[in-house]
Amino acid sequence: MKKHNFSAGPSVLPQEVLKKASEAIVDFQGLGLSLIEISHRSKEFIAVMDKAQALVKELLALPEGYSVLFVQGGASTEFVMAPYNLMKIGGKAAYLDTGSWSSKAIKEAKIFGDTVVVASSKDKGYNYIPKGYDVPKDADYIHFTSNNTIFGTQLNEFPGDTLKVVDMSSDIFSRTLDYSQFDVVYAGAQKNMGPAGTTLVIVKDEILGKSGRQIPSMLDYQIHADKGSMFNTPPVFAVYVSMLTLEWLKENGGVTGIEKANEEKAALLYAEIDNNPSFVGFAAKEDRSKMNVTFNLTDTSLKEKFDSLCVAAGISALNGHRSVGGYRASIYNALPLESVNVLIKAMQDLNK
Ligand SMILES: *Cc1c(COP(=O)(O)O)cnc(C)c1O
Repeated sequence: MKKHNFSAGPSVLPQEVLKKASEAIVDFQGLGLSLIEISHRSKEFIAVMDKAQALVKELLALPEGYSVLFVQGGASTEFVMAPYNLMKIGGKAAYLDTGSWSSKAIKEAKIFGDTVVVASSKDKGYNYIPKGYDVPKDADYIHFTSNNTIFGTQLNEFPGDTLKVVDMSSDIFSRTLDYSQFDVVYAGAQKNMGPAGTTLVIVKDEILGKSGRQIPSMLDYQIHADKGSMFNTPPVFAVYVSMLTLEWLKENGGVTGIEKANEEKAALLYAEIDNNPSFVGFAAKEDRSKMNVTFNLTDTSLKEKFDSLCVAAGISALNGHRSVGGYRASIYNALPLESVNVLIKAMQDLNK
């Protein structure tokens, strides 16, 4: 039976990407060798890394002066690397607290120094994005989580007159933004780009080497940038599959094209939530995420019926995060419109 994969992460990838990836496991480019058994310094793999980096720059329309890194340790390691590389000794960092991932990032930053939380939406269970806060001008940087995967809220503005560091794990490549306003962007691959195992980091070269800290090599952006993400063995499979997904994205209209498709999917699903008396949305309307759509039943006694309608329709991984409950439909780039329509039909069938 065809499955409709609403998983929040690791999550849906294009079928053609999965097919190409599986072929490369057995025989990479007709070499008679697997992608995962050749040297990362072979010309074949270096071409993969170069292409992946070039596609990131092209798809996000990055100007000159940025390095694209593929590192390991997940987005969670970036919670450490960002302050390590950017917070000056005796300096200060600013954070916007919009959910569990932000608060985890804040916890790590506090290890390095004065960490100011400029605003938080914790008071309402993180169902909205704070606005109208001040960003201290003397902060070494301000950190944002652009999309709150667990709560289903998304930022549209990134204020502040200092360096900007953004965790885009769950909405990278999903919408057009002026990426040149950012100094560091990072994203674990497994939400919208590829398999778990690599983290994309985009860093503005001119900001590096200024913290005054001695940074362990594996946590030093400068070293990864200087070595072209080949300081040690990169996660070759994760980088390769990410490259395939970026190729797929380019062939399917790039970020502008996918943004339109994402807006359409989100609009249909939110309209159903708003019009269907059995459901209520979780996030404040103006802050709704176009990637993770969170909602609840108005009458929880209907849970068993709705869950079985979902199973019968091939809908997979619709449960909300264990900390929030309810439902969460993750509608990342690779999730087809058809899957959204199948979900909408199950929501309508609940009232029959
Ligand atoms: C999933 C997620 C993370 C954690 O990513 P890991 O790669 O598991 O460390 C961090 N931030 C956001 C916004 C996420 O969605």
